[in-house]
Amino acid sequence: MKVSYSYLKEQFANPDAILADIKLLVQSGDFTLGKALEEFEKSFAGFLGIKYAIGVGTGTDALRFSLIAAGVKPGDEVITAANTFYSTAGAIATIGAKPVFVDADDSLLINTELIEKAITDKTKAIIPVHLHGLPVDMEKILVIAKKHKLIIVEDACQSLGAEINKKKAGTFGLTGCFSLHPLKPLNVWGDAGVVVTNSDAIKDRILLLRNNGLKNRDECEEYAYNCRMDTLQAVVGNHVIKDVDKTLNAKINNSKYYDQELGKISQIKIPLRKPGRKCVYHNYVVMAERRDGLLKYLEKKGISAKIHYPIPLHLQKASNYLGYKKGDFPVAEEQAKNIISLPVHQHITKEQREYVVSAIKEFYK
Ligand SMILES: *Cc1c(COP(=O)(O)O)cnc(C)c1O
Repeated sequence: MKVSYSYLKEQFANPDAILADIKLLVQSGDFTLGKALEEFEKSFAGFLGIKYAIGVGTGTDALRFSLIAAGVKPGDEVITAANTFYSTAGAIATIGAKPVFVDADDSLLINTELIEKAITDKTKAIIPVHLHGLPVDMEKILVIAKKHKLIIVEDACQSLGAEINKKKAGTFGLTGCFSLHPLKPLNVWGDAGVVVTNSDAIKDRILLLRNNGLKNRDECEEYAYNCRMDTLQAVVGNHVIKDVDKTLNAKINNSKYYDQELGKISQIKIPLRKPGRKCVYHNYVVMAERRDGLLKYLEKKGISAKIHYPIPLHLQKASNYLGYKKGDFPVAEEQAKNIISLPVHQHITKEQREYVVSAIKEFYK
């Protein structure tokens, strides 16, 4: 049996309906901004229960534009997780601000108890990262941000649909940022990203930032970027968004099964599942003894597993200038050695997930 990590082949096995709409787009010539994008932005905001969604080039741009719109300037410090995807830190660094990392906790997310220690008089913002579809405890972050007058930009690129006490990840901060990359929860046929916000001022600024600073065809308010979400991708997004809940529920079901069955294996440690959170399992991640051996064994059995991510950000070459060293974030470092992501996507069958569990059992026997 083969169990692939990717779902793209099955998800788009029959692309005719999408292609038909793309044909209409081609015939209309409405290639930038326009109706399809407006429709997508409206559905996206509706799904999250927030006022505005603005389509931009990528999830990274969503983060970068959020920081700029929030007034983060070169030299300011922005706090984020040591164990996030590279572009969270990249968005901070490329606007000249300084990424300041915080260790993870047993739930694989930023340890909210350690955030205050990382705050200095230069700290301007926090980017909590809802990693793997697991939502950060935003209620705690809101308290810290209020006390220290910090802006919150949520990195929800992996966590569309996750909730904390029934409120969706990405709707707590000044903005929430989403990626529509093919390997993200709501995926299109290339790169795209979305900023969501309830703020009229932030919405207006991001509309300028993505479109050369243009207020209208002839008047430029500020020199900015050309970084709109592609209309063609919006056509794809308008189809994919219809299936989002179904997709998330399938992943939640697979994860429940894994939690239950893998919980019986002493060599596997399931991350702490905190109450009041709806996890949507973009990646299904557990800690495993002899992780590298297990990874190879699963590969041999036709099961593709991954590591998200093997090197924490403070130990990446890109972070050299920040002056961190090994041992600074012991929890993230230890997790990086032990984590493994198992295939959990919406097209995994009951037989396939049983096969994954029995392969893991076999490996430890
Ligand atoms: C994918 C991702 C991003 C960046 O999104 P892109 O669309 O690839 O630019 C940012 N943060 C996290 C946590 C991500 O997983």
